[in-house]
Amino acid sequence: MPLAQRLVEVRNRIATSAEACGRLASDVELVVITKNHEPQLVLDLIDLGERNFGENRDQEANPKSKWVAERSDEAITWHFVGQLQSNKVKSALEYATVIHSLDRQSLLSALIKSAIDAPKPVGVFVQLNLTEDAARGGIEPANLEHFANAVLESQNLYLLGVMGVAALDRDPRIDFETIAKASAQLQKISADSKYISAGMSHDFEAAIEFGATHLRIGTAITGNRSK
Ligand SMILES: *Cc1c(COP(=O)(O)O)cnc(C)c1O
Repeated sequence: MPLAQRLVEVRNRIATSAEACGRLASDVELVVITKNHEPQLVLDLIDLGERNFGENRDQEANPKSKWVAERSDEAITWHFVGQLQSNKVKSALEYATVIHSLDRQSLLSALIKSAIDAPKPVGVFVQLNLTEDAARGGIEPANLEHFANAVLESQNLYLLGVMGVAALDRDPRIDFETIAKASAQLQKISADSKYISAGMSHDFEAAIEFGATHLRIGTAITGNRSK
């Protein structure tokens, strides 16, 4: 199936799911995850009307974003969705204006430091730990308020909301419900931090039911990765 057709299919499924739960499809933003694909794919997706792209490794994303910028004048938004090492923050902020994976205090400190010099304001999602294993990374829902306050006190980051990756070995609705509850808690202290980054190729319809506003969809659109 060609790229354009897969994209239309995903867009239709998003619209159908949104409508089924009384939401507007326009309130659900599609971020196409282009990791492990050649940069040309991003140009193809720009031609098809996409403007939001996500990557999970700075080593790949930084040169890709530059390659694209040299060939397209469209205003696009790069989203960083993977584990981000503190020593890669400066490089990531050369292109990314939305960080979905703020998962620890040391990364927050690095972001605050580098965002001062970033070309554009930097929006962040706090990534939640949805597992029972505290060592897995991510902010425990119980610690969200405390961590969110530290983000809110920073001068040059704005807190968009919460992000999560649902476990593969159980119904994703369990995790999406946890994320939705955490989002409601967060909105009590910051009404503007109302966005929810959740849902991937295999579970985005369930994520929409639970209020996801930013879907991170890769393979369902891009096909299998080349690398
Ligand atoms: C790769 C990735 C995605 C997209 O996954 P697909 O299953 O290809 O849709 C979403 N979120 C994160 C954090 C990723 O690393």
